[in-house]
Amino acid sequence: MNKEQQALHQWFEGKGWPYWTPHEILARLMEETGEFARLVNHQYGPKKKKAGEEVQDFEDELGDILYTLACFANTHGINLDAALERSIDKVQKRDQNRF
Ligand SMILES: [Mg+2]
Repeated sequence: MNKEQQALHQWFEGKGWPYWTPHEILARLMEETGEFARLVNHQYGPKKKKAGEEVQDFEDELGDILYTLACFANTHGINLDAALERSIDKVQKRDQNRF
């Protein structure tokens, strides 16, 4: 992910764009999470798509969430690869004798 984070940062710098503020990024994350939830609901829940509604896939929606997280991470100097590795390690240690 760090490679993609760096590419994103270079793109923003090249355009001269600032990142959104933390609250704007959080709002965007909630929007994208809602789109993911809607897609899960369409595929696994009782709420089906309306006729003519745009077709999305999980990869597309998860990508939108990761993009938004990358924006937040870049504004805070966080390497998402390291963050994910840390979380996986935490869960593996916590749950090694759990199930
Ligand atoms: Mg989306």
